[in-house]
Amino acid sequence: MEQTEAPVPLIVILTFLFFGIALVYYILVYINSSFVKKYLKRYLFYRKMEKKYQPYLTHNFPFYNALSDKNKLHFEKRVQRFIDMKQFIPRGGIGEITPEMKALIAGSAIQLTFGYPYIYFKHFWRILIYPDNYYSTITKNYHKGEVNLGGLIALSWKHFKEGFRCHADGIHLGFHEMAHALRLINIVDNPEYDFYDRRVMKAFDREARREISKIRRSESTLSPFREYAGTNKDEFFAVAVEVFFEQAKAFYNYNPRLYRLLSMLLKTDPILLARTGDPRVQKQVRR
Ligand SMILES: [Zn+2]
Repeated sequence: MEQTEAPVPLIVILTFLFFGIALVYYILVYINSSFVKKYLKRYLFYRKMEKKYQPYLTHNFPFYNALSDKNKLHFEKRVQRFIDMKQFIPRGGIGEITPEMKALIAGSAIQLTFGYPYIYFKHFWRILIYPDNYYSTITKNYHKGEVNLGGLIALSWKHFKEGFRCHADGIHLGFHEMAHALRLINIVDNPEYDFYDRRVMKAFDREARREISKIRRSESTLSPFREYAGTNKDEFFAVAVEVFFEQAKAFYNYNPRLYRLLSMLLKTDPILLARTGDPRVQKQVRR
């Protein structure tokens, strides 16, 4: 009599499936090709942050240190995901990309978007790091930093690092350039298009116009916004973000309405963070 073949037990199939998926995941996470960075890593799961980045967060981000333990973990996972998704490219004499560079750049981006858990500046997937000021062939000028609609962020490492030297002077190139990127991703056609409330942005810009004219007329000696903020509305926004994170109380005392508009826009409030360990603005703040 012929014997029928025994079916493959389900457990064997599941085991193969599990190891198969694990292998593909491992390959995707550790392959450093630009194709993977650009197209695939955005779909990966969250994973724990690699330990080598930890000291850089602790030493450079008062925002991170003020978070509750649960929020710290969330911040770390998002930092790892940001690093996994981006291609960091050394330029003009930068020998290699260090863990410090990755941690500080990712940390700045995640601090800015802490209120938006799904925003990763996906449009800007290449980050160019120069040692110092660099010459841009597009603007024909020297720059400390630049956000380009073609999908790249460029930074002078020297000036970027200077932003971390003092946490309360309202000058931080990382927040500044990420703020430009944030405004741009909202208007260019990309997966993160139109994520923030445009009405709030318009209200912010209206208020900003008043502040810009005060700066241009050197009217207010109390203004926490440096002269450069008077250049135009985009520069005002980027400078306001720097001041928002580094001099939150002074900002609030100077113009509480503008402060509230910015915290609604970013869904983050540094003053609330200092009190509760959670910076996220849950409810709409009344205007
Ligand atoms: Zn700028």
